[in-house]
Amino acid sequence: MLYLVEHFYSIQGEGRYTGTPSLFFRFGGCNMKCEGFGCEELAPDGTKVLGCDTVYAVNKEHFSHSWIPIKNSDELLAVLDQYELPQNKVDIVLTGGEPLIYASDEIFIEFLESLHKMGHLITFETNGSLSINFEKYPIYKECIFALSVKLSNSNEPLKKRVNGDVIYSIAKNSKEAFFKFSIDADSINLGLEDEIDSITMHSPKTKVYCMPLGGDKQEVEANTEPLIEFCKAKGYNFSDRLHIRIWDKNKGV
Ligand code: SF4
Repeated sequence: MLYLVEHFYSIQGEGRYTGTPSLFFRFGGCNMKCEGFGCEELAPDGTKVLGCDTVYAVNKEHFSHSWIPIKNSDELLAVLDQYELPQNKVDIVLTGGEPLIYASDEIFIEFLESLHKMGHLITFETNGSLSINFEKYPIYKECIFALSVKLSNSNEPLKKRVNGDVIYSIAKNSKEAFFKFSIDADSINLGLEDEIDSITMHSPKTKVYCMPLGGDKQEVEANTEPLIEFCKAKGYNFSDRLHIRIWDKNKGV
């Protein structure tokens, strides 16, 4: 079953397309937990759930009761009619959780194909660990991929978070791909450069964007200046996290 957690029309807050008006679809479920990011969310039953800043879209056990089960692609396309979009061709951002857990789902593929026919640019926010069958589903060749490959600060095992073949395949076959890493000040002093190199070596020409880790404004701000210095030293692009800086922990913005 395909689950939609939320949708909202905003500006892209991170990565190469920061500032671009975009309609976001956040899908439920992920193949990781990333408890190392240390964000806590209170579940309706009172449990404090540890994970990333979108733990409410990751943790099925505590949050899936509020996810929307999708039965056909028309239900997803109908979301576009709920917004007064300035033109028919706003960017569509598919995020999560991990949207590519649905990469072979029939409804999901139909949705992508319809969006493309309507002229929308489609961007995936993905952890870059799950393979895509580009030959069977050529629609993915028309999509942009923000490869937010997880670093050791996520506390996920290396084997699970870094799959060189998947990174290479997405970078090679997609319309466009770029790396996007979440980095905190402490990790910068712990051999992070080698870690990033060991990931980007799978697609050396793909651009690298580094953004400050944090689930709230205070944390993002604390990590910003050390990260800018790191980017200056290594030649990486700095990416802000505008949505957190502007709206803090608010969801759906
Ligand atoms: S891969 Fe992304 S969505 Fe999944 S748990 Fe990690 S940070 Fe959250």
